[in-house]
Amino acid sequence: MESVIIKDKRFEVNIPAAKIDQRVKELGAKLNEDLKNTRPIFVSVLNGSFMFAADLFREIKMEAEITFIRVSSYSGTESTGTVKSVVGIKENLEGRTVVIIEDIVDTGDTAIYLIDELKKQNPEKVLFASLLLKPDALRHPIKIDYVGFEVPNDFLVGYGLDYDGLGRNLKDIYKLA
Ligand code: 5GP
Ligand code: MG
Repeated sequence: MESVIIKDKRFEVNIPAAKIDQRVKELGAKLNEDLKNTRPIFVSVLNGSFMFAADLFREIKMEAEITFIRVSSYSGTESTGTVKSVVGIKENLEGRTVVIIEDIVDTGDTAIYLIDELKKQNPEKVLFASLLLKPDALRHPIKIDYVGFEVPNDFLVGYGLDYDGLGRNLKDIYKLA
């Protein structure tokens, strides 16, 4: 098994680049079919989804826009724990078909937060596309409309996903060995 060392850890290939490419094309084809007659706006969640978003967006045939957001988490001043906020949305989403693009859905906390936030702008529809989904970690009853691969609860890097800021440039997806 091909492996890489990132900092103190060894990772081995879990999903090879060719398989990712093929799956991204399938998801693109599905979106082209489902969203025909709409002019969707894709919302890529930085940093992790940048590579998936670029590849998926290239498959989109209809007139479409893409924009980029970031979810910043910080500790609240009260005892409420982590507070999230969305930064970067300048577009008016009212009446639009919105497709959120994420790298991975783990607990689903981020996904549910993002869907709720974007719905505040009264879009026609909010769809969610995630390259990866960890079904066993999910703790919200949410439906991810487009999933590339369901994966077990392993820590993954590559194709946009990082370990401590590194490994995003790997073409394959690796898991902790
Ligand atoms: P959630 O809010 O669903 O628990 O977590 C979503 C975020 O956690 C992802 O967008 C990603 O940043 C991070 N994350 C979850 N699992 C992994 C993983 O296996 N590898 C990496 N690199 N990040 C992960
Ligand atoms: Mg992410």
